[in-house]
Amino acid sequence: MKSIIQDTKKSIIDGSIYNLHEHHIFKGKNRNNSEQYGLKVWLTYEQHEGTYGVHGKYGHELDLKLMRLGQIFFELTHSREEFISIFGRNYLD
Ligand SMILES: [Zn+2]
Repeated sequence: MKSIIQDTKKSIIDGSIYNLHEHHIFKGKNRNNSEQYGLKVWLTYEQHEGTYGVHGKYGHELDLKLMRLGQIFFELTHSREEFISIFGRNYLD
């Protein structure tokens, strides 16, 4: 997996190495942008698809945290303006 956030295959949340799923931080129309810029992380099945997982019913907080993390990493090498022009909004501040 190409990721600018992780270089080892383990959960970004707790370091778990089992039942890992690849998660594209920015979804929908930005899924391809996540792919292109390496804005992907490893999550366990529960952290990904479970009730409190990022795609789950109660996963919004986690989803937002990961999107903020993605923007922070993107902005290590790009400007805020570039982020907004590519991803459509600002998740920080
Ligand atoms: Zn996902």
